Amino acid sequence: MLNPHNTEICIIGAGPAGATLSHFLSKQKIEHTLVDKATFPRDKICGDGITIDVLNVLKRINPELLEEFAAQPEMLESWGFCFHGSNGKELRYDFSKDGFPYPPFFTSRRIDLDNFLVQRLNPAYCNFLSGNTVKSIARVEDGLEILSQSALGGTLIKAKMIVGAEGEKPVVTKALGLPHFREKKNLIGGIRVYYKNVKGFNEGNHLEFFFDKKLLPGYFWAFPLGNGMANVGLGMVSTEIAKRKVNLKKMFEQMLTEHPRVSNMFAEAEPMEKPKGWGLPLITPKRIIAGKNYALIGDAAGMIEPFTGKGIGPGMMSARICSEHLAEALKTKNYDLTSYQQHMYRYYNSEIRAGYGLQKSLKYPMALNTVVGLFNTGALKNWSHQKMVKEWKNWM
Ligand SMILES: Cc1cc2nc3c(=O)[nH]c(=O)nc-3n(C[C@H](O)[C@H](O)[C@H](O)COP(=O)(O)OP(=O)(O)OC[C@H]3O[C@@H](n4cnc5c(N)ncnc54)[C@H](O)[C@@H]3O)c2cc1C
Repeated sequence: MLNPHNTEICIIGAGPAGATLSHFLSKQKIEHTLVDKATFPRDKICGDGITIDVLNVLKRINPELLEEFAAQPEMLESWGFCFHGSNGKELRYDFSKDGFPYPPFFTSRRIDLDNFLVQRLNPAYCNFLSGNTVKSIARVEDGLEILSQSALGGTLIKAKMIVGAEGEKPVVTKALGLPHFREKKNLIGGIRVYYKNVKGFNEGNHLEFFFDKKLLPGYFWAFPLGNGMANVGLGMVSTEIAKRKVNLKKMFEQMLTEHPRVSNMFAEAEPMEKPKGWGLPLITPKRIIAGKNYALIGDAAGMIEPFTGKGIGPGMMSARICSEHLAEALKTKNYDLTSYQQHMYRYYNSEIRAGYGLQKSLKYPMALNTVVGLFNTGALKNWSHQKMVKEWKNWM
C-alpha cells in the first residue's frame, strides 16, 4: 500500500545543495518536500574544505545561521592556503591579519557539515523524508509522480516540479529519460583518506595543496581537521587517468612516502580508513540542467569548479539561484525552469573560463613553477593577496 503525498516542489537529495534549497524555499514560506535515501548524520567523500562562497550563502539564508555555523566546535577555522610547486617552492597566503569577521575558509568533516544544514531545516515548510530512496519518476498530466521507498514502505509523491540534488550519480535525468552529460574531460576522479597524527600544519590551519611532477595535471591535498587529524587525498582529470592508466591509490602512496615535504608530515601518521574514491563533475555550459518541470543543482548539475575541485560553495549557490526561479514559476504557473540554467551559466561564466585555463596550466610543471615563483615576488604577492581580500570582504 503506497503512502500518497502531494507537494509543489520535490527536492531529491539533502546534501549541501538540496538542504540549502530547502532553507531558501522556507525563507520564502514555500512548502516543499525533501527526500534523501540516507539518514543523517552520514558521510560523503570530499576534501572537507569550506570556501568563502559557502559563508556567503549561509549569510544570505540568515546572518545568524552563519554565526551559529562559525561557532560549532566541528568547524575548524582556516586562515590561509599554500600551493607547493613541483620544485619544492611554496606560495603561501595568510589572511589572519586582514580584518575579516570570519576566516575565509573552514574545514569540517562532511558528516558534520551536512548534518548541521539538515538539523536546521524548517519543519513548518519542509517535509523531510530521510531514509527514502527515489526509485522511479514519471511525468503525468499535471506534473510528476515520484516513487520513494523506505524501510517502512513506499511513498508516491505528486509534484509540480522536481529538483535533482542527488549528487554525482544521476537519478532524476535517468528516470526522466533525459540525456545526462558525462564527458571524461569534465570529470575529475578523486580519493580521500582520513589520517591521524599528521604533523607540520601551519598554526592558522592552512589548506595545503601539493603539485608534483608525477601527479600533474592532478594535485594532492592535506587539509587539517584539528588535533592532528587531516583529510588527505588526490584528484586528476579522468582523461589523464585513462590516457596514462594512472592508479590513483598507488600514486597516493607514492606521494606519502616519496614527496620530501609530505613524507615528513606523514612520518608518524596513521590512516583511519581505506582510500575511498568518488567522481567530481565539472561545471560546463554544455550540460543541460533545467527544462519543463525540472532543474538540477549541485553535483547533479555538475557544479564543480575545474581548477580547485570545490563544489560545496557552487552547489549551494546553484540552490540559491534555483530557489528564485522556482518561486517565480509558482507565481506565474509556468513550470519551465530553463531560465535558471541561463542564469547559472551567466553567473559562473568567468569562473568557468578561468578554471579550465588554470587546469590546463597544471599540465606543464615548468609553467606552474614559474607562476608559483613569480607570485612569490613581493609586488605580485601583495597585489594578488589584496585582490583576494577585496573580493572576499564583499562576500562576507
Ligand atoms: C574526493 C573529493 C574531494 C572534494 N573536495 C572538496 C572540497 O574540499 N571542497 C569543496 O567545496 N568540494 C569538494 N568536493 C566536491 C563536493 O564534495 C561536492 O561538490 C558536494 O558534495 C556536492 O553536494 P551535493 O549536495 O550536490 O551532493 P551530495 O553531497 O553528493 O548529496 C547528494 C545527496 O543525495 C542523496 N541521494 C542520492 N541518490 C538518491 C536517491 N536515489 N534517492 C534519494 N536520495 C538520494 C544522497 O544520499 C546524498 O545525501 C570534493 C569531491 C570529491 C569526490
